[in-house]
Amino acid sequence: MTRILVAEDEARISSFIEKGLRSAGFTTDIATTGADALHLALSGGFDLLVLDIGLPGIDGYEVLRRLRAAHVTLPVIVLTARTSAEDTLASLEGGANDYMPKPFRFDELLARIRLRIADAGAGGGTVLSVDGLQLDLRTRRASVDGRQVELSAREFALAEELMRNPDRVLSREQLLSRVWGYDFDPGSNIVDVYVGYLRTKLGAAHIETVRGMGYRLR
Ligand code: CA
Repeated sequence: MTRILVAEDEARISSFIEKGLRSAGFTTDIATTGADALHLALSGGFDLLVLDIGLPGIDGYEVLRRLRAAHVTLPVIVLTARTSAEDTLASLEGGANDYMPKPFRFDELLARIRLRIADAGAGGGTVLSVDGLQLDLRTRRASVDGRQVELSAREFALAEELMRNPDRVLSREQLLSRVWGYDFDPGSNIVDVYVGYLRTKLGAAHIETVRGMGYRLR
């Protein structure tokens, strides 16, 4: 049974969400203050948190900040005021997985909840994100500063390997065996060729050549 924690102080909204989630087959708990939300979320019994920003006591941002500081990876969908782009941005930067501007239709929220739960179920951390580069491991999409880029399967695998090890130098041999999966051929320059492709697509500055050692994602 999938359990969803709804942190919302307005009874009208929380009961609307709760009814909808129950009829969709989810179990729900309601928290009406930030402190409650934090306490329940830290207890670890939930699969997703729907988090209102405007909560009494500790607000939604602070709840989110403390959860992430405690390394809780629970997917969080933040409820924001439709007019506030700043809220939205701050929520995503604060570690929210998604946001839902108020007012919303229940089916919109439900679609996002299902998507985020599916993401989490697909092995957690399905989006790798380093300095403006993003790889969505589930949809196999890549983007640079929000702009989508097309990567071949091999380019994607190479980008994934580099992004899983940011700021670490990976040798050609390591990249060759992890991405291509065959024994190193000292004469092969295939890694260099593909790093060149990635630089063209992702921006040259992201991948640094470390002389005599290999490559490093910055
Ligand atoms: Ca509120």
